[in-house]
Amino acid sequence: MKNYGLNELREMYLKFFESKNHLRLKSFALVPENDKSLLLINAGMAPLKPYFTGQEVPPSKRITTCQKCIRTGDIENVGKTARHGTFFEMLGNFSFGDYFKKEAIAWSWEFVTEVLEIPVEKLYISVYEEDEEAAEIWHKEIGLSKEKIFYLGKEDNFWEVGTVGPCGPCSEIYYDRGESFGCGSDDCKLGCDCDRYLEFWNLVFTQFDKNEDGSYTPLPNPNIDTGMGLERIAAIMQDVHTLFDVDTIRAIRDHVCELSGKKYGADAKADVSIRVITDHIRSVVFMASDGVRASNEGRGYVMRRLLRRAVRHGKILGIEGLFLEPLIRTVVDNSKHEYTELEEKYDYIIKSLTVEEQNFNQTIEQGLTILEGYIDELTKSGKKVLDGDACFKLYDTFGFPIDLTLEILEEKGLGIDEEGFKQEMEKQRERARNAQAETSYMGAEETIFNKLDTEVSTQFVGYTPKEVTSNIVFITTNDNIVDEVTSGETVFIITAETPFYAEGGGQAGDFGTIKTQTGEAKITNTTKVAGAKIAHHAEIVEGTISVGQQATLIVDNVLRLDTARNHSATHILQKALRDVVGNHIEQAGSNVTKDRLRFDYTHFEALTQSQIEQVETLVNEKILEGLDINIVETSIDEAKKMGAMALFGEKYSDVVRVVDMGGYSIELCGGTHLSNTAQIGTFKIVSETGVASGVRRIEAVTGRQAIEYYRLVEKTLDEVATAIKAKKSDVAKRVETLSVDYKKLQKENESLKTQIANQKASDVLSDVVDVADIKVLAKQFDGMDTNGLKQMGDTLKDQLGDGVVFLASHVDGKVSLVCMATKAANDKGVHCGQVISASAKTVDGGGGGRPNMAQAGGKNPANINKALEVALSTIKDQLTK
Ligand code: ATP
Ligand code: MG
Repeated sequence: MKNYGLNELREMYLKFFESKNHLRLKSFALVPENDKSLLLINAGMAPLKPYFTGQEVPPSKRITTCQKCIRTGDIENVGKTARHGTFFEMLGNFSFGDYFKKEAIAWSWEFVTEVLEIPVEKLYISVYEEDEEAAEIWHKEIGLSKEKIFYLGKEDNFWEVGTVGPCGPCSEIYYDRGESFGCGSDDCKLGCDCDRYLEFWNLVFTQFDKNEDGSYTPLPNPNIDTGMGLERIAAIMQDVHTLFDVDTIRAIRDHVCELSGKKYGADAKADVSIRVITDHIRSVVFMASDGVRASNEGRGYVMRRLLRRAVRHGKILGIEGLFLEPLIRTVVDNSKHEYTELEEKYDYIIKSLTVEEQNFNQTIEQGLTILEGYIDELTKSGKKVLDGDACFKLYDTFGFPIDLTLEILEEKGLGIDEEGFKQEMEKQRERARNAQAETSYMGAEETIFNKLDTEVSTQFVGYTPKEVTSNIVFITTNDNIVDEVTSGETVFIITAETPFYAEGGGQAGDFGTIKTQTGEAKITNTTKVAGAKIAHHAEIVEGTISVGQQATLIVDNVLRLDTARNHSATHILQKALRDVVGNHIEQAGSNVTKDRLRFDYTHFEALTQSQIEQVETLVNEKILEGLDINIVETSIDEAKKMGAMALFGEKYSDVVRVVDMGGYSIELCGGTHLSNTAQIGTFKIVSETGVASGVRRIEAVTGRQAIEYYRLVEKTLDEVATAIKAKKSDVAKRVETLSVDYKKLQKENESLKTQIANQKASDVLSDVVDVADIKVLAKQFDGMDTNGLKQMGDTLKDQLGDGVVFLASHVDGKVSLVCMATKAANDKGVHCGQVISASAKTVDGGGGGRPNMAQAGGKNPANINKALEVALSTIKDQLTK
């Protein structure tokens, strides 16, 4: 057999199926589009689901792809079996109601035996036990002897997902690697778990639709979906044992060995680590190139786990410091010809993965500190195992790997409560399961639009604003398809053609009017809906509108221009950010409306004030330069040659639209734009904030909104100026002086208050009376609460020497009373508690306390004088008894 490289094999396969009239599509991104049933694309057919179900019309009835796949379900297998990667490429040929079993089988055989020239004696086939039709084709048409055809059960050879939807039997092609790979058992044959018979190609005959009751209805137009692991066929052709020996992957493996100073094959345990790093680094690089960011949920969490596991195994191998960056280069170099996004997003890939690597190193340090604390506690309490709760907290909250916890504990002769840890993990899984909502096979929301004829679609004809006349083909409410609507109703109107831009590519939908001979509708939004249709969100404002009528569609061009200003400015902003901040800046999201633009971008810290100003200045320079905006339609390759920036994982069709701002910014974009940057008028950043880890957001305004913004700022300034009686140009200085003055006055005020209080205290001393050598003072201070009175009492007591102070206050319609006595006064018979309870009665209150201190409240301020009298006489009585 010839030894073909992995990249070569991919090309051979795609060319072969092109020769069988298949349309070759580029791999779809790993991030599924409009499919909530999947976190990451895991098979060639996954992104083609809408074609299988008839939701969308495929660009050709025969398609062939090489699809990037991630299967985290295989994570435990990676590094252990010879045939599993978390990342792999799946070759596939697909028929959407076109050819079926006969051709699918014949072509797969032709490719394997004639193109690849794999000897027939090495090949085996499995079919579903009830699929006699497939077995017949293999035997009669292909001429394969019956001993080579194995019948397997539903488990292995029947493909179905979920409880309803398309499904069918499959047939698999196996390669016999020879006895030496076998398990040696007597009944070792195809289907055995060992490594001898390697499944490399799965042909799925999607011929049934599974019903709710579990029965199967034959599909009128059955489909073909096949999947062949590119790495697996490469391993076969290159006559190597595992995926990790395949040319492109081996290059990464060798690099890992070089970085760690380990020799592959010398130590089985180290080999596992080498393979894990080799595999995981491929996965995370490809995920990053499709815009996945490490996080604590969803696919971001998958990414984080893979990356951390790789870093962790790097440490096991004794690699010190950061080591991912050079490996990333090797991954990119080996796949960049097919996956151009790897080179295009290179700066971002490096930056985002190394930031995550750094963070993880910190996490490990933090975890070590916490673990040391746990170990101390264990030693002190004489326990031997760390409880499951603590292990799980380290693992889940601090991201500290459990194997590391175990390793460190074992070094100290300690262990972990594995059962407890497992229980916590199970609880966590339960939580995760509950969080993932049930979805249909399609994973997309079913709406009324799914019920409309899929053959009818809407053509957008509105890049240059104009009135368009077209037929109304559908009218729907949220739940029903209707024929006619009248004034006051809110519906969706679908026409054959429209000049209305439908919300998409981060740009809001158009506004405007739809008129027919009998009625008029105000359009409040425009969106894309299932089946390549465009829905006008309509409020009928006059008469009636019915299906079949001719309509005039008029876009509100003033609002469209506002939106276009924000959209064109967004393009310049992205380029300016790259120029000022760095090439790792990628668009992470964008939202352009008539009122403002919002641009999310990948960056790992806040912009400085100076960076914000530089960016703003640069964008405004490009506006002032009055750059012509040229828009051309061309092929994706041509566009890339022009230097066009593409978005993460975007699916671009054969013809792409290139928006070129005088050569400064060149982007692929389907939005509506201005013809010259000068029309933006002006650009003002109004905020820069963080939205997620590694993602920042800029909000800005242009044109009329920018003027509105400045106006508002100026108005505020005017108001401030008037309020502080200053000229506008002096406002800042004046406010500063005012604030300095204010602080000064505040200080002065404080010291004056103290002075006055002291003054008052000394004033009242003249009211002191002498009773049996004890100084007695009873006095009213209005406006003071109990605390104030107490403080005052303390001050007065100090000044009196030996004595009794009784204070009353009228505050907020209530009465506060306080009585305090020194020790000498108590010795001579004074009891504050008794004084207070006697006096409080006069003001309809109550209270009491100790001999030296008591307080009370009352409800009748009119009698405060009485209270003072009673207090004074009570004190006198006590002193003279
Ligand atoms: P296996 O039983 O070996 O895990 P599978 O039944 O899960 O394979 P399919 O879902 O039929 O595989 O996928 C089609 C093809 O994709 C397989 O025949 C194989 O060549 C390839 N493939 C599947 N999983 C992986 C993986 N984790 N790594 C590499 N190739 C894979
Ligand atoms: Mg599998």
